[in-house]
Amino acid sequence: MPRTEQPRHFAIFAVPAHGHVNPALGVVAELAARGHRVTFAVTEQFAPAVRAAGATPVLYETTWPTTPEGRAAQWDGDVVQAYTWFLDEAVAVLPQLADAYEQDRPDVVLYDIGGYPGHVLAHRWGVPAVQLSPTYVAWEGYEQEIAAAMGEVFASDAYRAYHARFAAWLEQQSVPDAVDDFLGRPHRCLALIPRALQPNAERVDADRITFVGPALGPRDQPGEWSAPDDGRPLLLVSLGSAFTDQPAFFGACLEAFGGLDWHVVMSIGEHVEAAALGTIPGNVELHRFVPQLAVLERASAFVTHAGMGSAKEGLAAGVPMVAVPQAVDQFGNADRLVELGVGRRLETAASPVELRAAVLELAADEQVARRLEALRQEIAREGGAPRAADLLEGIAREA
Ligand code: UDP
Repeated sequence: MPRTEQPRHFAIFAVPAHGHVNPALGVVAELAARGHRVTFAVTEQFAPAVRAAGATPVLYETTWPTTPEGRAAQWDGDVVQAYTWFLDEAVAVLPQLADAYEQDRPDVVLYDIGGYPGHVLAHRWGVPAVQLSPTYVAWEGYEQEIAAAMGEVFASDAYRAYHARFAAWLEQQSVPDAVDDFLGRPHRCLALIPRALQPNAERVDADRITFVGPALGPRDQPGEWSAPDDGRPLLLVSLGSAFTDQPAFFGACLEAFGGLDWHVVMSIGEHVEAAALGTIPGNVELHRFVPQLAVLERASAFVTHAGMGSAKEGLAAGVPMVAVPQAVDQFGNADRLVELGVGRRLETAASPVELRAAVLELAADEQVARRLEALRQEIAREGGAPRAADLLEGIAREA
């Protein structure tokens, strides 16, 4: 069929973290394959992944926290501190990106939940802005529920100061939205998650939010991996890209799975030293980072921290999950996997016996396999990257 769509320039804004950049890469690849120009505001670290997906990186200097060794900082659970990371980054990055795009304004801005500069610049340029949400979105009544749950934090001086600073920044940028609306109530949003992972999905405003499912695309990530051809079931163990400083947990996994007739791929992240884990059993491959989509294709079970990226990638690949949540939305995601009947939830301190039993029982359960297959089909129907690109072309056409 001849392509009649006019090529456009889509610009994407996120924060420099895997959980925020990766989810958009499938959309990038689809738009680029359709002949559109895609630029992606990123740091050097993510430039190769963005380029491999088909976008031109627009580089900036980040304030995103790192350890003295240059690794991603481990968040210590202080909510206001995390909010502040995002705001600090936006304040520092906005002028850089305003300059970078001055002579090359996009037709449509796509912004991650942390990509505040994109949201602000779209407003300044008068172009459509579409949020690409890598995680669940706010439902009707969300603000009240959060305020009730976070009352103490929201009443603290630190939170009030952060909120006032955010409001002043928005005012300075002539953005009329209140802070909470700016953060949680996008005018238009494509949620890059399965609707099945959205809490209170029936209370989400379907006029503004469309669930397109995981828009998984090609990735060029660090981490060499070739699939084993030993015919054994494969287990992936990973706590994602950020919350990985858990040597005791990885040690328990080695003990749990070391003696099994399974092939075990373990991604330990950048904080734990392999030497600290003792002898590595012969059936275990240890990596700092693996190409997760490729490994999941072959996996029969996934021990995961249930970050939204990992949870949806596991579902899209139809893999049963033992969830060991560490922080933020991971507890809710873990519970959701249990509710959907495709996962178990364990504590980080779970014993090797508990870990092994959970994996073996889940992987052998035919009901779990049936539910996973139904979910896999439901996710395929959500349309992923092609549906996202159709909707984005429609938005560009109407602009
Ligand atoms: N990831 C990967 N290889 C690894 C660990 C993580 O490719 O060894 C990717 C994973 O596929 C996902 C992202 O990093 O897309 C992690 O996002 P998630 O939301 O699961 O967790 P976070 O890292 O944000 O805690």
